[in-house]
Amino acid sequence: MSEVFDLKARLTEMRIQPKKAFGQNFLVSPQVINKIIEAVLRRPHTDLIEIGPGLGALTERLLEKNLKPRLIELDRDLVEHWRARGLDVLDHDALKLNWDDLQLKPDSLLVSNLPYQISTHLVVDRCFGPQNLQHMVLMFQKEVAQRLTAQPRTKEYGLLSVMAQTYFKVEKVADASPKDFYPPPKIASRVLGFERKNEARDLSPRFLSLLKAGFAFRRKFLLKNLKGVVDKPTLELLPEIWAQLKLKPQARAEELKPEQWVTLYRALYDRN
Ligand code: SAM
Repeated sequence: MSEVFDLKARLTEMRIQPKKAFGQNFLVSPQVINKIIEAVLRRPHTDLIEIGPGLGALTERLLEKNLKPRLIELDRDLVEHWRARGLDVLDHDALKLNWDDLQLKPDSLLVSNLPYQISTHLVVDRCFGPQNLQHMVLMFQKEVAQRLTAQPRTKEYGLLSVMAQTYFKVEKVADASPKDFYPPPKIASRVLGFERKNEARDLSPRFLSLLKAGFAFRRKFLLKNLKGVVDKPTLELLPEIWAQLKLKPQARAEELKPEQWVTLYRALYDRN
């Protein structure tokens, strides 16, 4: 409990209240914080970025380890605080930022107890780069984490699972319950670790369009879902591609493993 009181003292000292609109559920569990810091330390990196330092549950611990993250923070009250502490803070929405402007060094790492409202969007965006962003250690709602790591033929498996697992090797780092945060959210959370896969570096955003079309109507046959999005010459190739992929004509999007989606993408758009 003492961590909750420390945090409350800090809120009073900084004269701020947690803001729901910014997804401010601050971490107060030393165990969960330790697991996140250990996951960062396990992943060798040159540059370190943190989205949403908040009151510093992770930031202070990183500084103790002689790691000086660059920060991205949307809440002006917090931006001033971290600037006064001598840190480089981008006063920006992490979703609207041009991530190329960060000029990350190779093998960079992103860590965040993400505000829940931006988490899925952010992961999908980071699939496309910057390519120097090699590692991520991120907190999600547990239900979102389950979708990110889901296996084919399960109800959680979908576009998000294929995107995350195609571009990254994803692993569970830790679970967190509502009491590990202040104020406590209504639902459980999970931290995942990501490592970028080399083989997916050339896949363009068209891969995402293919998945959107494929998963648009989950119960429909994938062949039918694709008919609206491929041009006529490609349409004629679909039976041949299906045979190559050893798929039944009745195959649904949720049956294809991430690597089969990549093979399908290359067969459709990367033929030359
Ligand atoms: N890292 C702190 C911790 O673990 O206690 C705070 C995490 S809190 C869940 C999310 C943080 O992200 C807050 O500091 C919030 O102001 C910030 N934030 C919310 N939306 C953001 C956005 N779109 N871009 C950048 N930061 C954002």
